[in-house]
Amino acid sequence: MNKFEQLGLNESLLLAIKDLGFENPSEVQEKAIPVLLEQNTDLVALAQTGTGKTAAFGFPLIQKIDAENRNTQALILSPTRELCLQITNEIKLYSKYIKGLHTVAVYGGASITEQAREVKRGAQIIVATPGRMQDMINRGLVNIKNIDFCILDEADEMLNMGFYDDICSILSDTPDEKNTWLFSATMPAEVARIAKQFMAEPKEITVGSKNSGSATVSHEFYVVNARDRYEALKRLADANPDIFSVVFCRTKRDTQAVAEKLIEDGYNAAALHGDLSQAQRDGVMKSFRGRQIQMLVATDVAARGIDVDNVTHVVNYQLPDEIETYNHRSGRTGRAGKLGTSIVIITKSEIRKIHSIERIIQQKFQEKTIPSGIEICE
Ligand code: ADP
Ligand code: MG
Repeated sequence: MNKFEQLGLNESLLLAIKDLGFENPSEVQEKAIPVLLEQNTDLVALAQTGTGKTAAFGFPLIQKIDAENRNTQALILSPTRELCLQITNEIKLYSKYIKGLHTVAVYGGASITEQAREVKRGAQIIVATPGRMQDMINRGLVNIKNIDFCILDEADEMLNMGFYDDICSILSDTPDEKNTWLFSATMPAEVARIAKQFMAEPKEITVGSKNSGSATVSHEFYVVNARDRYEALKRLADANPDIFSVVFCRTKRDTQAVAEKLIEDGYNAAALHGDLSQAQRDGVMKSFRGRQIQMLVATDVAARGIDVDNVTHVVNYQLPDEIETYNHRSGRTGRAGKLGTSIVIITKSEIRKIHSIERIIQQKFQEKTIPSGIEICE
């Protein structure tokens, strides 16, 4: 009996898990799956990014859904379009041996009528962004009055993005008897507030210490003059020819500008930000996943929660305004037990911010120097 069997998962899920190549459950899966399978309970689960939270709720959810009944039974709320699509894909992979189970992604920037049509055809699971979901409810295009499960995924991110009101309004449209499962990397006050307001004596699961960073990521910073940021980025890329990275900038404008410069200088780069059309964003993500792009230059919003295998480096071209965001950025690498490096390019005056981050992630940074041109040429 393998470890997934011991958790109580059924044959169709075990087959799918085998296809996925998952050998053992991650810690959050090991803790959450039996509880969710055996009990009808609300749950708050905290685990760092990259620890397999999608399957921690996805597996038990799929096992509990009645695939013979085409009514909507579960709503998964997630912060961004990209994540929405990612979760939908995962759920489809997990449920590939279950006949009649339908999952629909509902998110902004794509046709609402097409999404409504898919829902109407009979989807037991809806994966939605709060904004679009609220829109569908307002227009009477979806009925969530009889769902059994509501999952708030990446709850901290959703609240960070200002979805508090939408979430409250959506939840108040669901029945009291449902179970609510909240998954989050961190537990800021707003998440606690949602849990208190909408959950009944939730079971709690915490993996690792609250808010701390992933043990598989090492953190480095490079001090440069403000005008040398771009040069430093190029040198880092040159010194790591196999780099496969997400480069974070603070604004859409900087994101676009840095990506354009990199492309001009001959690097495999692309920009990902909210001013792109949905089709453009999907295209960029596809090329990045396919590794045609080595440096994905992105804003925080666009790159939120993105799960791409084997990202070697996260580069903070600029530090985020909110220190907590650093955790989410660095969580793009070091996923599923792999090692990764999170790099921060800063000016001298920003060094104190490094110390604040060290306190939050409970890990130390290494100070490094940018490889000089000569070293790179050697
Ligand atoms: P989180 O939501 O906690 O950030 P994800 O659910 O996105 O994490 O999972 C991160 C990565 O780990 C994904 O690529 C996923 O396929 C992989 N993964 C999840 N569970 C396992 C497992 N038990 N064994 C191996 N890989 C896993
Ligand atoms: Mg996740």
